[in-house]
Amino acid sequence: MRCFLCRLHLNLSYHGICSNCIDLLPRLGKVCAKCGLPHSLTSEICYRCLENSSSWDRLISVTDYVEPLKKMIHHLKFYQKIELSYALSRLMFLAWYRLYLQGELSKPDCITCVPLHHHRYWLRGYNQAELLAKPIAHWLNRPFYPYLLYRKQRKQDQKSLSRIGRAKNVVTLFGCDSDLTGRSILVVDDIVTTGSTCNAISERLKDQGAREVQILTLCRTFL
Ligand SMILES: [Zn+2]
Ligand SMILES: [Zn+2]
Repeated sequence: MRCFLCRLHLNLSYHGICSNCIDLLPRLGKVCAKCGLPHSLTSEICYRCLENSSSWDRLISVTDYVEPLKKMIHHLKFYQKIELSYALSRLMFLAWYRLYLQGELSKPDCITCVPLHHHRYWLRGYNQAELLAKPIAHWLNRPFYPYLLYRKQRKQDQKSLSRIGRAKNVVTLFGCDSDLTGRSILVVDDIVTTGSTCNAISERLKDQGAREVQILTLCRTFL
């Protein structure tokens, strides 16, 4: 097997991307410990989070929505290249693990993923977030609950709403019926943009008693 990016032969085929290409991936500069977006304050938390904080506790990402990950995510989602998922999960796990070694994160009690809309699942045949989350649960040695959350029927067509209306509308879209009292949950998604989906999910998990919600994503961007 060859590296997905430079086509070099890999000694460990399941890694998918060679260590040289991993070193060449664009790095994030200073990012907010809470929302994962770049910021230049001396504090850990950015001004956005100081003013209006999201309901998750930590957001960890590999990089911004840039090449080569952008293309890889696109292939995973739209060209059935599910063999990419393992290499991408590994990058996510490494980003998480780096912070864990620095003492910035604690190990979650369980792992879940952002559920895909039924229609999309039916079209695609898989949930990319689920593919990404499964190996991470294995490496963390923690249970994986892919169906901890479910999507509810949309109340309104998202397209007809303003950005603020959309953020409000999405709150009604996720359900969770498990008792999560005192639990720490890691939620995996491929891309986080406005953060409204992750925020709605985190609120839902906290309503069910979750103590801590960590979000782990490949790309964090603000489009
Ligand atoms: Zn390579
Ligand atoms: Zn922030």
